[in-house]
Amino acid sequence: MARHGGRGWYGWVIGAAVGVTALTAGASVWTAQAGQNTPAAPAHHTAPKTVTVSPVIAHSSDGGAHAVNITIDDGPDPTWTPQVLQVLRENGVKATFCMIGPEAQAHPDIVKRVVAAGHRLCDHTVSHDTGMDHKSESYQSQQILDAERQITEASGGVRPMYYRAPGGAFTPYSRKLAASHGMRPLGWNVDSKDFERPGTDAIVSTVRNELANGPTLLFHDAGGDRSQTVAALRTLLPWLKQQGYGFGFPVR
Ligand SMILES: [Zn+2]
Repeated sequence: MARHGGRGWYGWVIGAAVGVTALTAGASVWTAQAGQNTPAAPAHHTAPKTVTVSPVIAHSSDGGAHAVNITIDDGPDPTWTPQVLQVLRENGVKATFCMIGPEAQAHPDIVKRVVAAGHRLCDHTVSHDTGMDHKSESYQSQQILDAERQITEASGGVRPMYYRAPGGAFTPYSRKLAASHGMRPLGWNVDSKDFERPGTDAIVSTVRNELANGPTLLFHDAGGDRSQTVAALRTLLPWLKQQGYGFGFPVR
């Protein structure tokens, strides 16, 4: 499991959201995230409550045995996320976006677009520290819960439904904490290795060759030039359909 190790994680420039036009959070934003627990038509007038989910790392798809889960990590990014959204739209595919809290905070317009298009949100921490499994519980808590708040504020109130530890650096503590906040820990089965920019063909081949490993596929929409990722998805999504695959969300 690559932890983006060796090349270092270039500091996330936490830009102030200056100049970002605040979108009006339309009503659709509140209901667009498919399957999210919503307070629709409650039998009792109780406040919306966080549903505790399983702390076990999820890999399977709610779309069944012949569905894959497209997961997109490390954004949102003002250059690449819109391009990924375009490819997903062209193919009618919904995905799960694992976002970095301060990046969400810096680009709330993009977060709202992701949600409005019917994709799901996932908490990918504040600092993308792939060594966080060796750090204190208070640090892990801050990384997870601050990002949850930042993503939720950026989305206009739609909460992340999953938690993916950077580089898979989960701990029993962090899994339970995320689950208690309604965020199912989310793993992956196929690392497309797109982060390393091996070429579009190599990304496509990796996914095709490793698809038997399981349904959750890992791509990235930030952390550098992601044009190979966009091109690979443009090839892979129609190919997956041709092979008889559907598209789902990770189970919760
Ligand atoms: Zn990541």
